Amino acid sequence: MFKVEIPRRKSRQIMVGNVAVGGDAPISVQTMTNTETTDVDATVAQIERAARAGADIVRVSVPSMDAAEAFGLIRKRSPVPLITDIHFDYKIALRVAELGADCLRINPGNIGREDRVQAVVQSAKDHGIPIRIGVNAGSLEKDLQKKYGEPTPEALVESALRHIEILERLNFPDFKVSLKASEIFMTVEAYKLLASQIEQPLHLGITEAGGLRSGSVKSAIGLGMILASGIGDTIRVSLAADPVEEVKVGFDILKSLHLRNKGINIIACPSCSRQEFDVIKTVNALEQRLEDVMEHLDVAVLGCVVNGPGEAREADIGLAGGSPNLLYVEGKPSYKVTEAEIVDQIERQVRAKIAAMKESGGKIISIKAVD
Ligand code: SF4
Repeated sequence: MFKVEIPRRKSRQIMVGNVAVGGDAPISVQTMTNTETTDVDATVAQIERAARAGADIVRVSVPSMDAAEAFGLIRKRSPVPLITDIHFDYKIALRVAELGADCLRINPGNIGREDRVQAVVQSAKDHGIPIRIGVNAGSLEKDLQKKYGEPTPEALVESALRHIEILERLNFPDFKVSLKASEIFMTVEAYKLLASQIEQPLHLGITEAGGLRSGSVKSAIGLGMILASGIGDTIRVSLAADPVEEVKVGFDILKSLHLRNKGINIIACPSCSRQEFDVIKTVNALEQRLEDVMEHLDVAVLGCVVNGPGEAREADIGLAGGSPNLLYVEGKPSYKVTEAEIVDQIERQVRAKIAAMKESGGKIISIKAVD
């Protein structure tokens, strides 16, 4: 089967809680809560939903000392590592580090006095947690705006290097960097420029990308261009939508580039008047039914014999519309299914294969259709 493997930039690995970022670690998928952080129950519920969708890491903004105290309670209940998003106030950074933050997102250059910067870095060292530097085109330093006239890739990189120099001076190499702009080409260029200058991992994102549809497209193109060039160790798709959607789109981008396989990869035809069953309804139902599956399997759903048998043969489980509709398991036509049975039967075969994979400790590569 034709397959391209993207050679990845070698970066220095850091640990965000128990999740490795950089080096040969899988590219992690992040999202960010949009609840009030002081509403502990609502925030924990959102983190749990994101984790169930597969999020490896979740970021929580901590805008006040009250939020920092709430963060301590949230951290105790979170199933995944949490990054705290802090702007300017170094005391908040010190407090959340004490309360179990797994990473501090704070720009050293924005903290102010040297003794405060040193205190934050020392705290990160004492607690063994990394820092994320996050440069955003919308909040570039005034002198850089003046120097470059407008946000440019070079301006973003210069801003990042200023923060990086502070950490390097304080002998703190455990950081990652993001360079975000809503303009795709600027973002791509900025990441490429920075990637050649530092060894630390890079957090990718297209900021303020938009709503679910337009933001997903923009992120897929922007992140896709960067990832396809081998750059990127962790990603967040920023959408004006439910964080769970950000996680799903993040994985879809990685899956499309064969950078990470998690969950069911559905291959479906767009359907047309030749379809022998309702393809769109079937695919929507399957996406919902199989949402909890984290193992990777290819499932093909094709409406008729034009492309059905070919695609179904290539997938782990396939359904080719026809008279009758045929279900394929491991590339072999296995049995006939009526339209009413399609979703149940595909789900049944998927779950049987996963159970067999688990039983064999992930070694199993092929099974027969379950009766
Ligand atoms: S596989 Fe068949 S039903 Fe699906 S789009 Fe192609 S021709 Fe139409």
